[in-house]
Amino acid sequence: MTITPNWLEKRAYLSPNKEAIVLPDGTTYTFQQLKDDARSYAAYLQQQGFKKGDHIAVLSSNSYEMAVIIHALHYIQAISFLLNVRLTENELEFQINDGEVQGLIYHPEFEETAQSLTKRTSIKACNLFDIPSDQTLDQGQEEINFDDISHTLYTSGTTGYPKGVQLTYGNHFWNATASAFNLGLHDHDRWLLSLPMFHVGGLSILYRSVIYGIPIHLHEKFELERVHEDIMKRGVTIVSVVTVMLEQLMRRLGQDRYPETLRCMLLGGGPAPKGLLETCQEANVPVFQSYGMTETASQFCTLDQENMLSKIGSAGKPLFPGQLKIVENGRDCPSQEVGEIVVKGPSVTEGYWKRPEANQAAFNDGWLKTGDLGYLDEDGFLFVVDRRKDLIISGGENVYPAEIEATIKRINGVLDAGVVGVADDRWGQVPVAFVVKSDGTLDETGVISFAQEHLAKYKIPKKVYFIDELPRNASKKLQRRKLLDLIDREGEK
Ligand code: ATP
Ligand code: MG
Repeated sequence: MTITPNWLEKRAYLSPNKEAIVLPDGTTYTFQQLKDDARSYAAYLQQQGFKKGDHIAVLSSNSYEMAVIIHALHYIQAISFLLNVRLTENELEFQINDGEVQGLIYHPEFEETAQSLTKRTSIKACNLFDIPSDQTLDQGQEEINFDDISHTLYTSGTTGYPKGVQLTYGNHFWNATASAFNLGLHDHDRWLLSLPMFHVGGLSILYRSVIYGIPIHLHEKFELERVHEDIMKRGVTIVSVVTVMLEQLMRRLGQDRYPETLRCMLLGGGPAPKGLLETCQEANVPVFQSYGMTETASQFCTLDQENMLSKIGSAGKPLFPGQLKIVENGRDCPSQEVGEIVVKGPSVTEGYWKRPEANQAAFNDGWLKTGDLGYLDEDGFLFVVDRRKDLIISGGENVYPAEIEATIKRINGVLDAGVVGVADDRWGQVPVAFVVKSDGTLDETGVISFAQEHLAKYKIPKKVYFIDELPRNASKKLQRRKLLDLIDREGEK
């Protein structure tokens, strides 16, 4: 059992006047203010009858108040369920029931949804903005036990129904320290957070801020101009991004250069086309590619600066406390051989909430089967290939949609691409592509002939559909299963 002081309490004691949260309009909150507000919110929640062990859902997009409530829930030792604001009411209702949630705290922006949810589920709801900030918390939890669960955080739902991942304080702490061992900690660090805090990529930054004592530049969501401005003018040193954000930032940067204050563009959440990484290199943008998931409390592997150029395309090595291996058919794969990525370490969850079959299938002796395919090179660097669920087997050959997508994205006039496998009488499955184009003259033949030049025959898409936008979730991940629905609809016409 590991016990520490409550992290926010301790941080406010160590550096009360340091900036904790900076908003794009310049409003700043210190760690002391954050602590006072969190204690006050916690006192109010106690008065409402919420207590240790309760499951409390939060429905909010990024805001200062959301950060406060997350900390407040730690003071009363409730388990937070941070809901994805982009879900439908039915999906939210499912998570509230699945999570056996007792209370809902919502941002006024979601008043209507919250009212409807309270009727449908009979849970108690409270408006985040009605919580008074002048309450006194007499009996708050002043300590943190690493074994306690702080959140049940639902996965992005890219491959199916989101699963509730139970994360402990220990998982968050180890993730934060592992990241610092790799990226280092600089005196003037400022971390830009525009990923949603209801997913682990955003949430983990909140803990790093309190544990390291550095400010977060908190954005409600990713807005290109605001992020660009913060990097250019406000001394932001680290920015967490996913691929589509980085693509937009690079287009915006053009021939310009970021100031030297920017020392890390932490890229995660999905595959990154090599072309993009090369563009970043040319523009001197310090990209650190990472690999992680909700189940590992965010990044688990990251490519360090030293190997950024020589190992382009790799997600690096597991961070200091973690172990990783590639396993196929029960045996460890030698280097270069693709198999399932399996991980172990103190940032890895101990299990999914109420999913005994998923737990049984995924965990073995502390090792977690990630469902992702990848390989290690001879120096032990991880290359993520794709998700096992999306693997296309065509005429006995393994075809990875991500490889075809990355190739198509290199065509001039292509903005985005998604590839899925469809049933085929002769080959079992064949790849088909969905393309978003900016150039009206690009047609199916253009895409296929480019693919023929760069890919083996069995990887060439058998059909190309041009669409306006690819289906992406709140983490901006491509939802390939929704592409399959589009084909079904096309067939019905
Ligand atoms: P669900 O589990 O509900 O289908 P999800 O897996 O997308 O959703 P997250 O936990 O947000 O939910 O995402 C983690 C996944 O993102 C990883 O398992 C992996 O498939 C993908 N991913 C993360 N980093 C990388 C990377 N560097 N390259 C390729 N894929 C990555
Ligand atoms: Mg997953």
